Amino acid sequence: MSTMPIHSEFDSIEALRSALVQRKISALEVAESALQAIEARADLNAFLHVDAELTRAQARAADALLTNGNAGPLTGIPIAHKDVFVTRGWRTTAASKMLSNYTSPFDATVVSLLEQAGAVSLGKLNCDEFAMGSGNENSAFGPVRNPWDTDTVPGGSSGGSAAAVAAGLVIASTGTDTGGSVRQPAALCGVSGIKPTYGTVSRYGMVAYGSSLDQAGPLARHARDLLEMLDPISAFDERDATSLADCDGIPNKPGRIRAAFEAAMGAQHEAGAKPLSGLRIGVPAEFFNEGLDNDIAEAVEAALQTFEALGARRVEISLPRTKLSIPAYYVIAPAEASSNLSRYDGVRYGHRSATYTDLADMTSRSRAEGFGPEVIRRILVGTYVLCHGYYDAYYLQAQRVRRMIANDFQQAFAEQCDVIMGPVTPAVAKRIGENRDDPTADWLADIYTLGVSLAGLPAMSVPCGFSTTSKPLPIGLQIIGNYFDEGRLLAIADRFQQATDWHQRKPEQQ
Ligand code: GLN
Repeated sequence: MSTMPIHSEFDSIEALRSALVQRKISALEVAESALQAIEARADLNAFLHVDAELTRAQARAADALLTNGNAGPLTGIPIAHKDVFVTRGWRTTAASKMLSNYTSPFDATVVSLLEQAGAVSLGKLNCDEFAMGSGNENSAFGPVRNPWDTDTVPGGSSGGSAAAVAAGLVIASTGTDTGGSVRQPAALCGVSGIKPTYGTVSRYGMVAYGSSLDQAGPLARHARDLLEMLDPISAFDERDATSLADCDGIPNKPGRIRAAFEAAMGAQHEAGAKPLSGLRIGVPAEFFNEGLDNDIAEAVEAALQTFEALGARRVEISLPRTKLSIPAYYVIAPAEASSNLSRYDGVRYGHRSATYTDLADMTSRSRAEGFGPEVIRRILVGTYVLCHGYYDAYYLQAQRVRRMIANDFQQAFAEQCDVIMGPVTPAVAKRIGENRDDPTADWLADIYTLGVSLAGLPAMSVPCGFSTTSKPLPIGLQIIGNYFDEGRLLAIADRFQQATDWHQRKPEQQ
């Protein structure tokens, strides 16, 4: 029996949508075949919660809309959500034992907006516990496997989101990116992903990690599919205190990114044979330092040459505080996490220990039992850096560095370039279990993604090649834009994907 779902025969959301609208296939058929494929690829451990009846109900509703001509932009499109978005139907665990029995009474804004657009959810995707990690090895429910080589990690923390798209189980997925968690797994699994400008997509109903950094973003094979997913969710939400009402004078609502994308595509079209002429690509020297794998340096260089052939110009730039993004992030994110995770005390939320002597003992036992080692490590670091006496030395300093990093990006955009490009990760997917004794090794691998997060900028990862190892593993190109430049980034990525076929390569079933 073929395990490839129906939607994998279609090259894009647009192609699948037209087959659905023309009633060549039904949303229910698409959903059934995706459910089967998910079961057949249980070895990947990409899904934590599947509920066939809930999915079928959504698919039937989609078919009703399609039949009477009331379909929305995503009606019948099979997607899935990272398990940090709360959902009324499916359990939400954030891949933690702490929340292993938690079902939310409401849907996250991202979930309800995608449902309103008609998307059919196949369930909830595995990730690092509370989104803390870069390899998806920190899930309380076991690691996710990379479909390109099931002995390797898919990246993290949105590892299930990337693996599910790479294996063709869903056409697109949602992820979250606090320090790289959309871009990094997209890169390691050979799919595309975008983290939009901080504040453009609502955090309401997203299990909080580092609230000043957390942003939702979609993953899919094509940049165009990312547009289909991102445009409807990029909207002001009064239930998120940091949600933006407008983006540089343009209201933050569906249609904003699509309009910018179409304007950029129109300009490319008019430019003719050199569609990207005039585009200045900043290439930061600090993104090509000693730690960078040779295969990645070469693939990124080849991608830059493709952009030059399309008319873009390369400009050497400097982001001098790139190295400092690691200590700054690993002070700020744990500080915010220690505060956010204080709600899991076994009373208001979370696992409660079966045995305890008094209230304090209950809290401490519940937390010790419910949280995994990486989460505990971050809570301890975060609590320490916020302590009276250390606050000025660590937290305040980190905030100052964060401001300088944001200024470095602004200076580059103001004076030298329109977008910035470089690698996403210093190495391709590592083997599951590698670096187990050295948790900070993973932290260092975030070097190219953290600065963007600290600055709140939009950035993407698009596939740009493979390693020369015996089993070739995917490599991602990072494209960073200035605030609210999502439409332009997607148009640039789309142009790259018209010139290359890296994003269309699919892993063989192992
Ligand atoms: N790897 C980073 C961390 O562990 C980023 C994770 C994320 O973006 N959620 O914090």
